Parts: sequence; C-alpha cells; structure tokens
Amino acid sequence: MINREPKIKVALLQNYRESKITLNGNYYLPSGKSAAGLLNIQSLAGKVILSDASGEVIASPKEIFLTAGENSTLTLDVKIGIDFHWQRTRQQIFRGSIILRANPDSSFHLINEIPVEDYLTSVISSEMSARAPLEFLKAQAITARSWLAAMLERKKRNSAALPVNRISDNEIICWHDTNDHSFFDVCADDHCQRYQGITQITCSAVNAAIGATHGIYLVYDNKICDARYYKACGGRTEVFASAWEDQSFPYLQSVTDHITDYAVIRSEDDAGKWLKDKPSAYCNTQDKALLGEILPSFDQETIDFYRWQVSYAREELEEILHKKSGIDFGILQNLIAVERGPSGRISKLQIAGTKRTVTVGKELEIRRWLSPTHLLSSAFVVSAKHSKSGAIDRFILDGGGWGHGVGLCQIGAAVMGSKGYSYHEILLHYFRGAGMEHRY
Ligand SMILES: [Zn+2]
Ligand SMILES: [Zn+2]
Repeated sequence: MINREPKIKVALLQNYRESKITLNGNYYLPSGKSAAGLLNIQSLAGKVILSDASGEVIASPKEIFLTAGENSTLTLDVKIGIDFHWQRTRQQIFRGSIILRANPDSSFHLINEIPVEDYLTSVISSEMSARAPLEFLKAQAITARSWLAAMLERKKRNSAALPVNRISDNEIICWHDTNDHSFFDVCADDHCQRYQGITQITCSAVNAAIGATHGIYLVYDNKICDARYYKACGGRTEVFASAWEDQSFPYLQSVTDHITDYAVIRSEDDAGKWLKDKPSAYCNTQDKALLGEILPSFDQETIDFYRWQVSYAREELEEILHKKSGIDFGILQNLIAVERGPSGRISKLQIAGTKRTVTVGKELEIRRWLSPTHLLSSAFVVSAKHSKSGAIDRFILDGGGWGHGVGLCQIGAAVMGSKGYSYHEILLHYFRGAGMEHRY
C-alpha cells in the first residue's frame, strides 16, 4: 500500500550498443568521483564502459550509478514512437539519477531514477499538450499516477515476467503488458507512458495540475485502480479482456463517451453500422483549434482518428502479414472477426489464406499484423473488392478510435474539460464507481 512518494526507474535507452550523453553539471559515482560534459557509453562483454570526450575510461563495471548534483541535467538523443507511424529521434533533457546497466549481449540500458511526481510532470506534458484544459490535465495526472502505482504493485506480485502467449498451430493469442520489463519499471515510450524529459514542459498548467492533485489516486475497494488510458475510444470504451488477460474490473466497464447511452456492439451488423456512422461523442471532434491545444504537435498529424479507412491491394496486405507475423498465408481469402468487445474492437481475428488459416489476438497484435506500423485500433469491419474475374483485388478496413479503448479516452476527456466538466466528473465518467484518495 502506497503511503509516501515512490521513486520510479524509467529506461530512456534500451539495448543500445553505444551512445553519447551530455551531463549538464556534475554527476557523482558511488566513489564520490564526479563526471560532467560529453561522455561516451559502450557495452562490451557484460560491462558498461563510460569514457570522457578524450577517450579516458571513467568506469567500467556491470552497473554504474550516477547521482545528479543539484540542478544537474542529462541531454541525450532518444528514439520516440518506436514502431509507430510517428517514430522519430528527439534530443531530450532529463533530471534525476542515472543507472547504466550492461546486458549479457554487449548492449546496455540507460535508466533514469526519479520521484514519481517529477516523472508525472513530464508524462503529462509528453502524452498530451501542456496547453490542454486544466481539469483534463488534472484527470490525466491522477490516471497516469494510478496506472503507475497499480503496475508497480502488479510487478511486485509477479516477480518474474509472465509469459502471456497462447500459441498453437492455428491460434496466436498474445498481449503485451508492462511487467515484461526487468531491471526497470517503465520504458519512456508509448509501450508504457511517454516520458520525454523536461524539454516538453512549456507551461505552468502542468505544474498546476500535478500540484493540485499531488498524491491523489483513483481507488476502488481500497485498492489503487489499474487506470488505463489511450487517445480516442471512437464513441464507446472497451473492456480490459479485449486487450489483456481475461479479467474484468468493476471500474473499467464499457461506457458511452457521450451524455446519452448508445447500445453495445453485439453483432457484425452492429459493428458495420457503428463504424460507418459518426455518432456524436466527446472524442468525435475535428475542432482544429481544440485539438491543437490538446495534442502534442506530432500527434496532430493524425486527424481522422474518430472514423478512419485503410485500403490495401490484396498482394500488399499479404506481404505486410507475411512480414509482420512471419506466416505465409498464400492468397488471402478472408478476414473474419471471431470476437469483438462492446466498443467494436476485435479481440480475435481469423485470417484465412490458401496456405494457412490462423486466428490472431488480442487487439494490439491484430493492429501490428495488419499494418506496416500499427493500425489505429482493432475496431474495424472488412470489405473486399473483387476484380471482373471474381478474385479479390482489395481489402478495405473501415475503423474507429485510436488505441486500446480501455479506461480514459484522452481526447474525450480533454473535450469534457473544455466544456467545463471538473476532473472529478471526467474521471467518474470513465472510471465508474471509483473514488479518489490522498496517499501522501
Ligand atoms: Zn514499456
Ligand atoms: Zn472517446
């Protein structure tokens, strides 16, 4: 049970062979020796080698702990949005201590250890824009803080990373959760939560949001909620089991992202009607000015997130599937939704070809297989276009939403904030029946 501010270990670089970092101000080794300026990091035979600009080795053990001096910061180039369509490299600045840890394969991790509230200040401004409505930023702060604490608790319970794949000849069901990280708690990218250092903090609103909610957690039944979030639900939120293990949480029900209720999706007919329609919802917005305030600049490149369409030539999709899954399906014949959640997200998809027929799940794996990067979501219906000879020419995916859909809809929550809802109202809209508690 959390009763004081925890510290968190965030991997900024994972499995790198070498890198350069700049220490702005002094950092200290356990021996008391100081290091500053431009440094080279390399990994060799299970050791990390830290050397200065002239090549002189400063230290070369298995693990190096560098404590930051007062006001010292670290600058480095980080890849963000890894494997997503917004992947790019950015120079970022971080506060806090650094751990360099060698892996047996001559690679290393660079891990940043910082107090949770500092970490959250960065996450809030990295996930969304710091100019977003204040009540939304508060809701986002409490959600991210709760998710983090729940994740750390879960990690303590499952000390070893659990294998989560159910694989047979014709079925591949797997999901990815954050307890697959060892030696650190979270990575700094979309896989966990975006943490892009202190360069993103451009506005006092973020500090105000963290300050106003300092130590506040979402709770249910005296436990901290596993408060998930994502970009846009597409009109209705999803249940936990569509994305991760077959579990359900009372505070993670599927809810309509609107003032009145829409029916849940129960059939393929329902899904087709829902995804080809554009029902009103908090996240159904194309208000450029508002989205400009809500989303970080690189996310504003994704505009059609509420309803979207992806069209592939049959051969093109066969190639993508082969590359992403490693399976040669032959001539692609059909894509069938075997199982959908209440938001329309497919959790099991059957891919039928002339050589193989395989069912894949859950939502993230489906999104990964069906795109050179990732599909925006697994809520889609498939139609095929035929040539004159009757063979399939193209597959068209009509979809909705952005992300797994479980818990808080960030764009919906930000729109609620802009309409004057308080962070309490926003959180209780997405996390039904949850309470809020000060833990430190
Ligand atoms: Zn991660
Ligand atoms: Zn939504």
